[in-house]
Amino acid sequence: MIRVAVNGYGTIGRRVADAVLKQKDMELEGVTKVRGDYRARLAVEKGLPLYAADGRHVPEFAKAGIETKGTLNDLLKRVDVVVDATPDEIGRGNKPIYERAGVKAIFQGGEEHSLTNFSFVAQCNFEKAAGKNMVRVVSCNTTALCRTLHALNSGLGILKARVVLVRRAADPDETSKGPIDAIVPDPVTVPSHHGPDVQSVIEGLNITTMALKVPETHMHLHSVIASLKGQPTRDRVLDALAKEPRVLLVDANAGFKSTASIIDMAREMNRPRNDVYEAVVWKDSVSVADGEAYFFLAVHQEAIVTPENIDAIRAVSGGIGKEQSMRVTDASLGIA
Ligand code: NAD
Repeated sequence: MIRVAVNGYGTIGRRVADAVLKQKDMELEGVTKVRGDYRARLAVEKGLPLYAADGRHVPEFAKAGIETKGTLNDLLKRVDVVVDATPDEIGRGNKPIYERAGVKAIFQGGEEHSLTNFSFVAQCNFEKAAGKNMVRVVSCNTTALCRTLHALNSGLGILKARVVLVRRAADPDETSKGPIDAIVPDPVTVPSHHGPDVQSVIEGLNITTMALKVPETHMHLHSVIASLKGQPTRDRVLDALAKEPRVLLVDANAGFKSTASIIDMAREMNRPRNDVYEAVVWKDSVSVADGEAYFFLAVHQEAIVTPENIDAIRAVSGGIGKEQSMRVTDASLGIA
């Protein structure tokens, strides 16, 4: 059994914690929280061992009548791997704490690649994570681009990729973020950081990205254009995408008119929290002209990195290979 802690029980941490509970080869030893809020109370009611992220927070939990089992340092003594799901750039400060405790750590995409010098997407580089102590699971956008571009690169070969990312402005519970009535080039300069981030996983890929954000909370939508080697056809591109794990092809003619339909599908499938773990490509959008492939790609930012975190835990722990890990993870989450 791999003993796991989740440090930071927010959007990503809650999903990873629930996914760890579904793995037969993992034990969730505990989660940490900063605040004694309703999420902390619900975690305890679900039976999760709750720890204060820092000793300074203990009185707040006691005041709220929420039982904690100790602090992060106590939790780290009980585990083999910690998943750091704290807000952007907090992980950098936590790294020495994990090193001192002698536990392996999985960080998230809000950290720089340089924090671990290894950025992870299961189908691209699972094996290379073996034996590493620190791994960074890349962001939601980078995960989706890596899955789909990996499909085209290994199936046909990519000469260059150009992507425009339309990003959701905030997660559904983030009421302090905007915009609420504007489209914001973010960043206004080109390229955005997403291209180099993809290159941290798929080395040497010729990719340029530009990004903007819109008043939306549920998903991102990318427009992807990739120049391909040889004689690409629509069928070959579709075949490569269909064969790739964790890529879901949907059809506008079947009612998938927008990202809202994709979230609605997840709701109807009784996916926890309406989670869409797959990178979603509109089959109808896939077209090829003059050696270039075009498609629309939708990304459920809150959910897509959940399976990657589970595979990253196995990858650094050793003993189980890529295909088996991905199969087990996907079966546990209901990914077809
Ligand atoms: P979040 O704000 O929803 O959750 C972070 C949690 O950590 C909160 O509960 C917060 O109270 C807690 N926290 C704050 N400081 C802490 C500390 N010092 N120690 C322990 N816990 C602390 O953030 P999130 O959206 O889950 O993002 C976590 C990481 O995942 C970031 O690196 C982010 O870039 C990345 N990520 C986020 C998304 C997304 O869409 N939300 C997608 C992919 C990757």
